[in-house]
Amino acid sequence: DVKTDENVTFEDLAISELTLNSLKKAGFIKPSPIQLQALPLALLGLDLLIQAKSGTGKTLVFSITALEFVQTIDDDEDLTVIKTKVIILAPTREIAQQIVQVIKTIKQPECIVHTFIGGTALKDDQNHLKKCHIVVGTPGRIEELLRLKYLRPDTIRLLVLDEADALLCKEFQDQINSIFSYMPSNKQVLLASATYPEYMIRFSERYMRDMTCIRLVDSESPSLIGIQQFYIIIPYHPIDSYLFEQKVLLLLRILPQLKFRQCLIFSNLRMRSSAICERLKSLGYETTYTSSSLTQNRRTKAMRDMYKHKCQILVTTDLTSRGIDLDFVDFVISMDLPNDSETYLHRIGRAGRFGAYGCSLTIVSDGDEQKQLEKIQNEFKLNLIGTDENQQFQLL
Ligand code: ADP
Ligand code: MG
Repeated sequence: DVKTDENVTFEDLAISELTLNSLKKAGFIKPSPIQLQALPLALLGLDLLIQAKSGTGKTLVFSITALEFVQTIDDDEDLTVIKTKVIILAPTREIAQQIVQVIKTIKQPECIVHTFIGGTALKDDQNHLKKCHIVVGTPGRIEELLRLKYLRPDTIRLLVLDEADALLCKEFQDQINSIFSYMPSNKQVLLASATYPEYMIRFSERYMRDMTCIRLVDSESPSLIGIQQFYIIIPYHPIDSYLFEQKVLLLLRILPQLKFRQCLIFSNLRMRSSAICERLKSLGYETTYTSSSLTQNRRTKAMRDMYKHKCQILVTTDLTSRGIDLDFVDFVISMDLPNDSETYLHRIGRAGRFGAYGCSLTIVSDGDEQKQLEKIQNEFKLNLIGTDENQQFQLL
């Protein structure tokens, strides 16, 4: 029998029996295209760039690789001590927590994985680090734990940067450089990203061994085919808060006609997101809100309410525009345009996970905002559909 990509299963990849069984139990049978391409090379120990559109299954590539490292016993290994072998970095606490949930669904009971993020007690982290195989966290906290020597770098075999394009931009530069300065030289490095900006090349030349690129993106259109993208133009008004109020009123008029399982509503400003959330709640919508200014407990709870389908709508900032995988989300609304055009793709990518269908709606005012949307449309060759509030927003 000739194996084509169509009928390949995880069993055809060089994955250990233990991990195969847990993958099967978790319902993962057939690898996605990026998993099929990237896993064999990752398991060989190569340094990789894993580039594929959002929602295509990049998390499992590095999670499986991480678990295989934990299960591989080195010759000189003392089995009575638990050593940290893997660090996985993510740009937001929410993504870090989500990665830990994914690993938990496919790990062996004896494998220990934990989230290390800001907004939690360092003392607890110190205790967790005494017994932890896989460390998942945000750059600030991981750097701090390395600096305090709570996290011992000498046994690290694998370092993963999820959403690498975000982790390698200015905001995290110092922390990432510092983290790499602690790492042993013989570790494997994996970068997962939906885009491949120029600065990633420079980074790889500095920190990686001959990076192999696995890029499953068609350069024609980096956005997802399953997502129908609508926009509505409203008249411009020079007073920003008035303009925003018009957008909110429009949102309130169209929301009752929309059919969705779960919906994300983005706006650039926290205050506006939280105000929208309050108004939707008062109208009886099961709505929650999150942003980086909330306490960690409230952030965790808001995401949990979405993962568990206790809430139908999440109003948020670009904190959750990347990486977040809520499989019920099939509608994404943007109350304004994000500052950079790639973030637009990340926002709409929250719908249509793993080939599912979804819709997005962007509300812009005529004038500058409309021009900015046209720019995004041209840059990524998007197929945007102009509409008005009387239109049915349905998949065409
Ligand atoms: P990405 O990081 O590429 O944006 P994720 O890793 O978050 O995507 O995966 C998106 C969704 O696809 C998740 O809900 C995940 O459970 C699902 N998924 C991933 N791999 C498979 C697979 N091989 N079979 C079925 N579902 C999968
Ligand atoms: Mg991801």
